[in-house]
Amino acid sequence: FIISQSCGKKTNSFASTPSKNNAIERKVDSVLRLMTLEEKVGQMNQYNGFWDVTGPTPAEGQAALKYENLKKGLVGSMLNVKGVKDTRALQKIAVEQTRLGIPLLFGFDVIHGYKTISPIPLAEAASWDMEAMRRSAEIAAAEAAASGLHWTFAPMVDISRDARWGRVMEGAGEDPYLGSQIAIARVKGFQGDHFTEFSVAACTKHFAGYAFAESGRDYNTVDISDNTLHNIILPPFKATVEAGVKTFMNSFNELEGIPATGNAYLQRELLKKEWNFDGFVVSDWGSLAEMIPHGYAKDLKQATEFAANAGSDMDMESYGYVTYLAGLVKEGKVSEAHINDAVRRILKLKFELGLFDNPYKYCDEAREKATIGKPEFQEGVLDMARKSIVLLKNDKELLPLRKTGQKIAVIGALANDKTSPLGSWRIGADDNTAISVLEGLAKYPGNTITYEKGADVVTGPTLFPKELNINTTDKSGFDKAVALAKKSDVVVMVLGEHGLHSGEGRSRSELDLPGVQQELLEAVYAVNPNIVLVLNNGRPLALPWADAHIPAIVEAWQLGTQSGNAIAQVLYGDYNPSGKLPMTFPRNVGQVPIYYNHKNTGRPSTNDPQSVFWSHYTDVSNTPLYPFGYGLSYAKFAYSDLKISAPSFSGDGKLTVTVKVKNTSKVTGKEVVQLYIRDLFASVTRPVKELKGFELTEIKAGETKTISFTIDQKLISFYTANKKWEAEPGDFKVMIGGSSATVLEADFNYTH
Ligand code: BGC
Repeated sequence: FIISQSCGKKTNSFASTPSKNNAIERKVDSVLRLMTLEEKVGQMNQYNGFWDVTGPTPAEGQAALKYENLKKGLVGSMLNVKGVKDTRALQKIAVEQTRLGIPLLFGFDVIHGYKTISPIPLAEAASWDMEAMRRSAEIAAAEAAASGLHWTFAPMVDISRDARWGRVMEGAGEDPYLGSQIAIARVKGFQGDHFTEFSVAACTKHFAGYAFAESGRDYNTVDISDNTLHNIILPPFKATVEAGVKTFMNSFNELEGIPATGNAYLQRELLKKEWNFDGFVVSDWGSLAEMIPHGYAKDLKQATEFAANAGSDMDMESYGYVTYLAGLVKEGKVSEAHINDAVRRILKLKFELGLFDNPYKYCDEAREKATIGKPEFQEGVLDMARKSIVLLKNDKELLPLRKTGQKIAVIGALANDKTSPLGSWRIGADDNTAISVLEGLAKYPGNTITYEKGADVVTGPTLFPKELNINTTDKSGFDKAVALAKKSDVVVMVLGEHGLHSGEGRSRSELDLPGVQQELLEAVYAVNPNIVLVLNNGRPLALPWADAHIPAIVEAWQLGTQSGNAIAQVLYGDYNPSGKLPMTFPRNVGQVPIYYNHKNTGRPSTNDPQSVFWSHYTDVSNTPLYPFGYGLSYAKFAYSDLKISAPSFSGDGKLTVTVKVKNTSKVTGKEVVQLYIRDLFASVTRPVKELKGFELTEIKAGETKTISFTIDQKLISFYTANKKWEAEPGDFKVMIGGSSATVLEADFNYTH
């Protein structure tokens, strides 16, 4: 083909050295010169898969049009096609039937695993373990790449403060610092140091502000300040640019009244100019067309003009670019320079992936068979799952469970569920492929385990993307469950949300146990209070009754393929939990949005307990049920001796902060030592505390470790009243502890 001939032999590995980058740029330009305007615009068009193309030729409708356009070279990328057979068939059309033979780029939502499923991203974030998360993304990439895919629409780095929003499950929680570290780990895991046939391009999404949908209702209006945008929302996005992410996805929401897809400030000014991002931006699904109902564009043609001018490089499923973009260039409404810039960015990735050398590089049946579901991947996701579990309460030392001689009742439909633990956004994996809690517990044969469902969580089919039918009436299984609990030593209750109760379009207005589960919990508690409550959920829940009554609570999220094994190993103490919450758990929905790094008000708590004139509720405390960063271990840790190397530092100098952490228990455990900083007075008001460092460390029984952190100018910088990131002189507090409810503090000062 023309391209392969004109471009000659190329190295098929991406390299970041300037000379190789220049070589890629020259190749990109050589291709660009051969392209017609229509072919260029074609590269900017992404279609959803049309399955029948691999079978008989699609005869009519949208699929037929897509097929015709594919043959004309008017498609640059496709999404939701998977498997070597299908990707190869489509690639063959692009390479052999189009004039220039430019290979397609196959994208897919590989969000937390492809076939072998990892915990949902929010759960993974609870591990605070960057290496484990990098590895989890690496496993996902290896399987996806073996299945013909080049590109994942992950990581989602949206900072989220509202547990009602269904997509909190996809992110890393509420904190920009932790979120940035995790975003970097995930990009590195997906992409590797350089592309091989086991890595894929990553996509940072959703740029920007999507998680701040009003009242947590997905797709709702977003209205945020510049201060929040820059200090809270943008840092993880920027971190991924610095980590070399190849693509960005914009978002459905508006920002300052301008939809993100048509937002030139975000895409051209900030991302491409200020941050120097040299990859491309794909729109979110249909987000060009959504600018019409938003009330911003009058029709699809105008939406196309706005999106292209604002720097959206690829149109996912709005059909705006393929229909109108060439015409808009001819009319002078969009410059050809904008088109060339977008196409350069897209072609660059295709070269970097090695697709011009070998368009079928990712289409290898033998590799597909050998790679997907590898035993070492199962080990990897099991490791990730164990690390994601957060022990919320263990009052009567019910945990770890004794391994022999116990009569254990297991109650709750989720205990016997092999699909829900896979969570939302796992479209590459089949139903019924997770290890259930019952299966996990069965691996410990020393106890007598008896199961009663108690009640269903949902009734009827749970086919995505239909609404779930929550069981709000059927309590017919309660009696049997209660009778079983009565004659058991310990009850393990697995309650929470169905796997599809969170995710896109899955917002909730309540954060309780859905349906009749709370009633079931109380009915069982009435006859046997020795309950270990294992929670399965895709968001923080508000469970004040459980916290007040149930002696042991384990947050087990949706942990993926190895869910039941991970839970059983933690319950039996073969794995000592070390997870810490990446998002605040509220006491009730009315507290939401509730987050640890809030601002102080002008009305803090008063000394007069009778006074109403301070910022509070009359019916619930201001504190959360479980704070950000919180999580227990079977070990116990005591913090002491917070020392700071000097009372102040200036300019490029730095301070060292040390703290002693002693494991006062008889078992080895891991602790996440957390450092927070408060800037007491600044040109714009600052949060009461902000996470600025953490260390996950194993401490042996009886051992004391000294942990040290460095504070420098970069760490105390923020987006100031000057609309710049800078450090301002002033007084600061440093706070340390095993959660955001810190236990030790010291003061320091910074001067220029
Ligand atoms: C979601 C994106 C996703 C895309 C493609 C959209 O609805 O918002 O996160 O990558 O669909 O599936």
